[in-house]
Amino acid sequence: MPRPIEALIHPDALAHNLARARAAMPDARVWAVVKANAYGHGIERTFEPLRAADGFALLDLAEAERIRALGWRGPVLLLEGVFEPRDLELCSRLNLWHVVHHEAQIDWLAAHKTHQPHRVFLKMNSGMNRLGFTPTAYRSAWARLNALPQVDEISLMTHFSDADAPAGIAHQVAAFETATRDLPGERSLSNSAATLRHPGQRSDWLRAGILCYGSAPDFPEHDIAHWGLQPAMTLRSRLIATQALQPGDTVGYGSRYVAEQAMRIGIVACGYADGYPRHAGSGTPVLVAGVRCTTVGRVSMDMLAVDLRPVPAAQPGSEVTLWGRGPHGSVLAIDEVAQAAGTIGYELMCALAPRVPVHLA
Ligand SMILES: *Cc1c(COP(=O)(O)O)cnc(C)c1O
Repeated sequence: MPRPIEALIHPDALAHNLARARAAMPDARVWAVVKANAYGHGIERTFEPLRAADGFALLDLAEAERIRALGWRGPVLLLEGVFEPRDLELCSRLNLWHVVHHEAQIDWLAAHKTHQPHRVFLKMNSGMNRLGFTPTAYRSAWARLNALPQVDEISLMTHFSDADAPAGIAHQVAAFETATRDLPGERSLSNSAATLRHPGQRSDWLRAGILCYGSAPDFPEHDIAHWGLQPAMTLRSRLIATQALQPGDTVGYGSRYVAEQAMRIGIVACGYADGYPRHAGSGTPVLVAGVRCTTVGRVSMDMLAVDLRPVPAAQPGSEVTLWGRGPHGSVLAIDEVAQAAGTIGYELMCALAPRVPVHLA
C-alpha cells in the first residue's frame, strides 16, 4: 500500500468559486489566473472546471502552451509579458495577449515581424512599484504602442497592493484614472481581493486568482465562509501510529511539546517534505475523522503529531485532513493552517510537494 497521503482537487469547488467572481462583478469579463501551475492545483486538472472563464492569465510561456494544447482557443494573457524578443514569435503563433510593462518590450514589438497584430495590456505602476510605467510615462508608452502596426487593441491595466487591507485601492485608482482619463480601451484592475471587497470598481476584465482556489484573500478579517468560497484542494492522510503520553513526556524534535496530563496523540503521515509548513507550531488546527484537533510539537520531514483528546475513537488508519474538505461535511480552510505558520494560503497551495499524489475528487 502506498503511503496514505494524497491531495484531492475539487472541480465543483473551482466552478463554484469562479461563479462567485462573476456574481460579484457581473458586468466584467473574468481572467482565471492559472500561473504557478494553477496555484499548485495543476493546469490540466483545473482547465475544465475553469473553462467558463473568459480567458486564462499566467506568466510562463510553457504554461501558455499547455493551455493551448488543451484546446483552449480563447484569450490567454501573459501577466509579465515577454521576457525576450523571440517570445513574441510564440505570441504570434499561439495568439497570446501580453502585458507590456517596460520600454524594451515596446522596442521588441517594433522590431517583431508578424502578420497578425497583437492585443496588449499596457501596465501602469500606480503605486505598487513592481511592474509598469509610472503615470507620467504611461501616455507616451501608449502613444508609442498605438503607432505600431504590430499592435492591435491596447487595454489598460494596473495592480493593487492593498486591495485586501484597510488601506484599500482608492489612492491607486485615483492615479490610474487621472493618467488614463481620455485613453480608449478596456480596463483590467481588480484581483481577487478587489473583486470581493470593492465590487463597485470598474474593471472590464477582473483577474481572479486565489478566490478560484477557495482561499480568502483578506483572512482573517474574512474567511471563505463569509465570501461563499469552497476549498478547491484537500490535503489528507491517515494516522499511522498513536502514543500514550504521561505528564512530562515530550513530543518530537527539540522536545517542544511537553504533556501536562496523560493524553493520547496520533502520528500523521504528513510532514514538511509533503509541503506542510514546518513553521506551523503546536496548536495548528487539523481534522481527525472530521473532528477538529490541534497539532503538538514540531513538524518533521515525513510526520507530524496530533492531540487526540477531542476524538478518543481515533486509531491508526483514521483519516486526517490537513486542509480542505474532511469527512461528514467538515471543512478546514487552508487559511487557518497558513496563519498558524505565519504565511498565507497562496504559499501553501503552491508549495504542495511533488511527492504527494494528486487526484481529481
Ligand atoms: C497573480 C496575479 C493576480 C491574481 O491575484 P489573486 O490575489 O490571486 O487574485 C492578478 N493580477 C496579477 C498581475 C497577478 O500577478
